[in-house]
Amino acid sequence: MKIAVLTSGGDSAGMNAVVRGVVRIGIVKGCETWVVREGYEGLVRGNEENVQQPPYDNIPASKDVTIADPGFLKTLRFGDGTLLRDGTFDHHYGRSLKGRYIIRVGWDDVRGYLPQGGTLIGTARSKAFRTHEGRLKAAFNMIKEGIDALVVCGGDGSLTGADVFRSEWPGLVAELHASGKITEAQATQHGHLKIVGLVGSIDNDMSMTDLTIGAPTALHRICEAIDSINSTAASHKRAFVLEVMGRHCGWLALMAGVAGGADFIFIPERPPEAGRWQEKMCEAISRHRSVGKRKTIVIIAEGAHDSSLAPIKADDVKEVLSETLGLDTRVTTLGHTQRGGRPCYYDRVLPTLQAVEAVDALLEANPDTPSYMIGISENKITRVPLMEAVELTRNVAKAISEKDFAKAMSLRDPEFAETLDGFFHTSWLMKEPYLPIQKRLRVAFMHVGAPAGGMNAATRAAVRYCLYQGHTPLAVYNGFNGLLDDNITPLTWLGVDNWMARGGSELGTNRTLPSTNIGQVASKFQEHDINALMLIGGFEAFTSLVELEEAREAYPPLCVPVVHLPATISNNVPVTEYSLGSDTSLNALVDACDAIKQSAAASRSRVFVVETQGGRCGYIATMGALATGACIVYTPEDGTNLDMLRQDVKYMRRRYGIDKKGKAEGRLIIRSEAASSVYTTEVITKMFKEEGGALFDSRMVSLGHTLQGNIPSPIDRTRAVRLSLKSMHFIEEQAEQLAKLPWKQRWTHKGADAVITIQGTKVKWVGVKEMVEQADIKNRRGKTQWWTKYKQMVEMLVAREQLVN
Ligand code: ADP
Repeated sequence: MKIAVLTSGGDSAGMNAVVRGVVRIGIVKGCETWVVREGYEGLVRGNEENVQQPPYDNIPASKDVTIADPGFLKTLRFGDGTLLRDGTFDHHYGRSLKGRYIIRVGWDDVRGYLPQGGTLIGTARSKAFRTHEGRLKAAFNMIKEGIDALVVCGGDGSLTGADVFRSEWPGLVAELHASGKITEAQATQHGHLKIVGLVGSIDNDMSMTDLTIGAPTALHRICEAIDSINSTAASHKRAFVLEVMGRHCGWLALMAGVAGGADFIFIPERPPEAGRWQEKMCEAISRHRSVGKRKTIVIIAEGAHDSSLAPIKADDVKEVLSETLGLDTRVTTLGHTQRGGRPCYYDRVLPTLQAVEAVDALLEANPDTPSYMIGISENKITRVPLMEAVELTRNVAKAISEKDFAKAMSLRDPEFAETLDGFFHTSWLMKEPYLPIQKRLRVAFMHVGAPAGGMNAATRAAVRYCLYQGHTPLAVYNGFNGLLDDNITPLTWLGVDNWMARGGSELGTNRTLPSTNIGQVASKFQEHDINALMLIGGFEAFTSLVELEEAREAYPPLCVPVVHLPATISNNVPVTEYSLGSDTSLNALVDACDAIKQSAAASRSRVFVVETQGGRCGYIATMGALATGACIVYTPEDGTNLDMLRQDVKYMRRRYGIDKKGKAEGRLIIRSEAASSVYTTEVITKMFKEEGGALFDSRMVSLGHTLQGNIPSPIDRTRAVRLSLKSMHFIEEQAEQLAKLPWKQRWTHKGADAVITIQGTKVKWVGVKEMVEQADIKNRRGKTQWWTKYKQMVEMLVAREQLVN
């Protein structure tokens, strides 16, 4: 099969990862791979008559390398890595790209694509493709090159175009045949167009998928801007109104509002009341100011309006803040900065996984299957009928235009509503707390184990929620040691204000477990009248929870709800698919690896053996390898042995043997620190150095504590809020249950202790018994882990099997 990939409409980070993924997986699965420059415009323009594709069949095999499949070797050697770099289309395999829009590409043409923002093969808005004439030309250009399978990455406009093209295709072929432009044989051979869509859109505005390619990176850029604005705003006591992208979709504004700790947000799906929003906003903000807050951040989506659909613009908000509250107010429109830049971790992994699925969908397509859009739902890559998704997306805009805002909200995924609820509870400062006095609790917060990004954000959210409801939030500093030392103080609304963006642990954390002195722990519970405890941390926090539960019967003061919110960069807590800190950590890894890999290109070909933390869980290493395009990954789950190492050396030698002579290339190996106690990072690095000979050198890099990251990622911050509110709901529910029981039954009551987990798109609490059943206690990880299958994908994307066998 000949597969072509194009990017269309507005650019977004992650589009290059799509192109790389489609090309590589296409080749691995035996397809011929092509790219189309400049979106649909390139299809319409096609290739000029007198230009030829590179001389694919004449590529000589290298003398140094012999592999079983010479065909595959040719594809590797075919791409020389000079295609479409830096947005220039100078040459490809020594030939000018002038007049060529549909280009045959090989493996190494897409080398270095992962860390690049925007789309290197170009995108455009094509008027011609909207016309029948244009699409007729496009069909002809494709058939001329023998292509009838297309991957389109773009927004809802591009995907609609894709569907129109596919449904018209048989008619276009008949027309081309009737006019004599194509032969009978061509018409028969290309009677059916296979097409699949991937959603590249920074707004996250597509239905039937939880996340679109480019949205997470856009959120990163926005949060960076908010974090910088926060400091200047506080310095001058200023107010800032920040306009972010999103015409019919408030996803970016909402997530940025939560992650950035904004005071007020405007989103199209939940518009404020016409004529009253001014008053409501001023009330909220003046209350924040009245407790001493020095800065104000308001986030407004580009398409914001009030309940009567009258547009609300950043300048309108500025006017109200200046005139009514007398605040020194500035407007910042982020504009195109949101689109660009290096893709974050998620915008490398998601497009890669979706590209694999897209190629599979094309290979399985037949005239009866619909065109698919590749999405992600419940943390799984999905195929959904393309037109149904586009239709549903349009319905959101329609519902908004009909003022049916409830429907617009219902068409968004449940995470959207939950996050909105989270925003209200964490930004609103109540005049009077919500709950009656008898239902109010004293809730203690403690960080346990190593720091992880999002710990502080989670604590802030829970503290704000407590104050909203009327509970007393108590900080326990320095873990269980602090509890024993009475290092406990109440937290305030303003005191936690800046915690969203803070890395490390504001409460201080260590690895001491309650079993160190359980009797004393219980007596401190009693002394400080602690009615509930939230433990934020990794495996130690989980172990603490188990210990506290076991001690309930012997120590009645411990008969209170205790909840564990997983936060650890290792992502090794059983059941939950994600723990806080793991996203921040992977972003730190990706940043470090980009820099490391780049350094090789400046010197000589070099293999970097990068050591990661992660305890006995290979999550960070495996997903990091997928996101950085590493060649080899060593995990504790799979261990390391001599046979493996021998194959790895073979792979590396062959791979470097194929490289263009004289060009230095960096390649990565990622190794979990606990993958083997014998074949350590040092041993492996020396081994590759020795075996690399004249082909390549090797160096070791230990990422160590840099993996804890600096500023928590936006995803960790928004996750923190959802997990935290779920934890609080659990605490309130269980406190009510326990209060109904006679004292003695409280001791034996099971279920007041739980772990808050992310499963798919849902946040669920899981009881201790089930957690323990799912835990591999010895190795400190879950018995089953959802991501282990991706190691195979890492190997597929570097053609390991083809090169080693
Ligand atoms: P996005 O894909 O980001 O939503 P656009 O709406 O601009 O961006 O669409 C990108 C391109 O897709 C358009 O320039 C046009 O070439 C093509 N396209 C969009 N809608 C259609 C349509 N109804 N029929 C044919 N082509 C279309």
